[in-house]
Amino acid sequence: MKPSLLKLKKYFRLEAERSYDNRAVVGGLYNGVQAWEAEARADGVGEALVASIRGGLREYERLTPVERQRILIDLWRSIEREVGVDANGKEPLPVKVVARKQAAAKPEAPVKKKRSSKQAKSAKRTRVEGEPVALDAPTTVLTGVGSVNAKRLEALGIFTLGDMLYHFPRRYDDFSKQTRIIDLLYGQEVTIMGEIRSVSNRPVKGGRRSIVEAIVGDETGALRVSWFNQPWMARNLRVGEEIVLAGKIDQFQGRLTMNSPEWEPVDKEQLHTNRIVPVYPLTADMGQRWLRGLMKRVVSYWAPKVPDPLPAPIVLSAKVLPLHEALSQAHFPTSNEALNLARVRLALDELFLLQLAVLLQKKAWEGKSANRFDAPQAWLNDQIANLPFALTNAQQMALADLLKDLDSGRPMNRLLQGDVGSGKTVVAAICMAAVTRAGAQAALMAPTGILAEQHFATLSRLMVGKSLQEGELRLIVGSTPESEKAEIRSGLSDGSIKIVVGTHTLIEDPIVFSQLEMIVIDEQHRFGVGQRAKLRNKGTNPHLLVMTATPIPRSLALTVYGDLDLSVIGELPPGRQEVQTSLALPRERARAYSLIRNEIAAGRQAFIIYPLIEESEDSDAKAAVAEHKRLQSEVFRDLKLELLHGRMSSDDKEEAMARFRDGKAHILVSTTVIEVGVDVPNATVMMIEGANRFGLSQLHQLRGRVGRGAAQSYCILVPDSDNYAENERLKALLETNDGFILAEKDLQQRGPGQFIGRQQSGFLDFQLASLSDARLIDKARRHAEELLASDPTLSKPEHKALAAAIKKYLSDGKGDLS
Ligand code: ADP
Ligand code: MG
Repeated sequence: MKPSLLKLKKYFRLEAERSYDNRAVVGGLYNGVQAWEAEARADGVGEALVASIRGGLREYERLTPVERQRILIDLWRSIEREVGVDANGKEPLPVKVVARKQAAAKPEAPVKKKRSSKQAKSAKRTRVEGEPVALDAPTTVLTGVGSVNAKRLEALGIFTLGDMLYHFPRRYDDFSKQTRIIDLLYGQEVTIMGEIRSVSNRPVKGGRRSIVEAIVGDETGALRVSWFNQPWMARNLRVGEEIVLAGKIDQFQGRLTMNSPEWEPVDKEQLHTNRIVPVYPLTADMGQRWLRGLMKRVVSYWAPKVPDPLPAPIVLSAKVLPLHEALSQAHFPTSNEALNLARVRLALDELFLLQLAVLLQKKAWEGKSANRFDAPQAWLNDQIANLPFALTNAQQMALADLLKDLDSGRPMNRLLQGDVGSGKTVVAAICMAAVTRAGAQAALMAPTGILAEQHFATLSRLMVGKSLQEGELRLIVGSTPESEKAEIRSGLSDGSIKIVVGTHTLIEDPIVFSQLEMIVIDEQHRFGVGQRAKLRNKGTNPHLLVMTATPIPRSLALTVYGDLDLSVIGELPPGRQEVQTSLALPRERARAYSLIRNEIAAGRQAFIIYPLIEESEDSDAKAAVAEHKRLQSEVFRDLKLELLHGRMSSDDKEEAMARFRDGKAHILVSTTVIEVGVDVPNATVMMIEGANRFGLSQLHQLRGRVGRGAAQSYCILVPDSDNYAENERLKALLETNDGFILAEKDLQQRGPGQFIGRQQSGFLDFQLASLSDARLIDKARRHAEELLASDPTLSKPEHKALAAAIKKYLSDGKGDLS
């Protein structure tokens, strides 16, 4: 017999020997079985059997020993029936007679009980029942959580009881409105309560499957309820018992019915039904009910013990719920109103901590001193006169901000925001020239090799032979040959190289600068704060300039980039033609293709973009691959098409992009990996498939890939649905070319997730929603400023909890928003 089944039988045997105390496996039989499933699958045990074992044991913990015995005997038999018996022949589950006193399942203690005096003595951490446990205690202090379940919880980022409190539901099912059977309607999600009138278990498909059917009735009528392939349900349901059912009303042969609803006896606390039910993010091998039950215990016992970091005066003046109440309501809301109040409170916490962290960081940075670099007027005039164009007003104003920072004696810490093509690089270049003029060094870091190359080319054009000598500007990327890297390293350490342009290689490489005084980071959301800090540490308080083309709504900028000063280039250089944007329905694709053909005939190039179809890069890539093939073989047979998607190696990506840039292909078929700033001035058409799946800001970014030369450019949005509202939303792009307006609209419509890297953000979706609440952000900012005005270092005793919370907040990487 398969080893996994032997193991299971061993568990069962042990459990029988222990009179079904659910202790044969640490953490309980059900937990053990969850871990066992993977083994069983690897062993080739059928999915149906695995499911019936899992299902059979799901309620095990709650059952009386007699019931447990019945279930194990049953499962034992079904194992033998399904996979045959081993060499020893049929072997019954050893029966140790269980006392028939219907001992109710033991009440759940908040912490594990002492198992036995011997175990207690040997255990490192001994604890008497009911003794308070700190919130940073590991989850294994909970009954039912052994090392296996602890591992599973860890996969969700839960290590401690405190983490559990902050593991919020991903959604809620509102079963709180209980419905009478007579009022049921097909398709409704409901909770009903009734008495079990009858239960039957009948085999179907020649005995290979089974259906348990129950008739449940209340004073208004009766309803047939079915469970498929869960034969143990027949034993769980007892005629005459009152139960609560929650689920969707289905139809079978013209009659209403419910299939496999959630259920529980009426007299238990109605945890899974008859209320707004939390639905938690899970890992694959974890049951919703299990986690919910665990959560209930943790929340009711520990939420009241969480210290509230928000100072009492702020809780009062902000008129929000106390933290413990917000936590319990967030998990097990008593009403939708209460849930909303809880959200506001938790969001305020998050925003308030973030604002404090950001302001403290800003203060710390402002407190440092930096070398001063001035830009004498005559020199500056020279620099500007050397440019092949005149600076726009907006560029001049931004430049003035930056030069002032450089000469302030404090490190620059500034975000330079400007739409694609607004000319940020030139402005940065003049600043770098001011630094190298004084003999110091500057570094420019870009998120990809091709962007670094592009910047290198721009800076070469602008600076070499003017403010820099040949060889004083170098490029270092991953693919740079080692010998050249070595040469660059030595040039940087002896100071003969003045400016280096590169990718994250700049951070990872053991480069030592002789005097790094300015760092420019392009497209900053690709770099985390940690990376920024690493680069910063290669100099002593160097000036830091971050450039981004992503327009971010003001409220969000305050939050996410609140530690940076802000300059905006809100104007494009003159002579640029606005990109002509249009919306084409799928059936109008042919028109788009002929526009592309015409442009290519005129010597131009085109992008065709495909969206993320599903939440996976794989299928995303597949769509692009398939479309590339179709376009090449059916639509543009005579043209050269390049393909680019996220599954390609970064070298392959860069090569494809470079070929397109160099005019070796007519069309670049791509997923959104091209989003970030590549400059191909010869490209004049941007066709975006599935446009409705994108945010307005993202579409705007994509649109910015064209219109970079002097020729008229086109952007064609092709939504993949006829959804009127969605397509209305897209019309905003036809109406404005202003990235900020689009960003604001986007924030209102789609929330802030798209503006900040989700994984990097440290925000849970739950709180993320709050970032679109400008009023709440302002409130948090105001409270944070007031608090710091009265206690700049958070050293007052009443702010102790707050200081600790901030420290934890930052060390968890939650402040790492960029
Ligand atoms: P960004 O990085 O903001 O997207 P770039 O700095 O790459 O923009 O500039 C885009 C293009 O516009 C470059 O080719 C640059 O040389 C050019 N450019 C920048 N400023 C001006 C200006 N004031 N007038 C004309 N062209 C400009
Ligand atoms: Mg740029």
